[in-house]
Amino acid sequence: MEDCIFCKIYEKKIPSTIIYEDEELLAFKDINPIDKVHFLIIPKLHITSLIECNAEHKNILSKMLLLAPKLAKNHGLKGFRTMINSGKEGGQEVFHIHFHVYGGSEKLAKL
Ligand code: AMP
Ligand code: ZN
Repeated sequence: MEDCIFCKIYEKKIPSTIIYEDEELLAFKDINPIDKVHFLIIPKLHITSLIECNAEHKNILSKMLLLAPKLAKNHGLKGFRTMINSGKEGGQEVFHIHFHVYGGSEKLAKL
């Protein structure tokens, strides 16, 4: 997808700190971390947001979700928070679906 910053990241057209890559997924550190550890998990397939997902996406979504605890553990996290901002009104700024995974501070604020 042209002009998509996260497509450019997986195409290695712009630099990032990649922490995981396979045929379908990429994970990289958030450029503006909100915690000691903060990374993003994306599918290589350009999907705009969770709003556009349907049953056809269940495999890729479950792979993304199941990757989160593995990478969190690799980064020394005993617990973590996942966040998926969906749509402009949901706080989404980059319109290529991504799961935020973050933690590492003493205790995350209660939502
Ligand atoms: P969201 O508000 O859920 O769309 O979050 C977008 C996230 O992408 C923010 O936390 C940004 O800090 C992060 N971000 C934007 N550009 C980059 C980049 N080039 N490399 C890594 N993270 C980025
Ligand atoms: Zn994209």
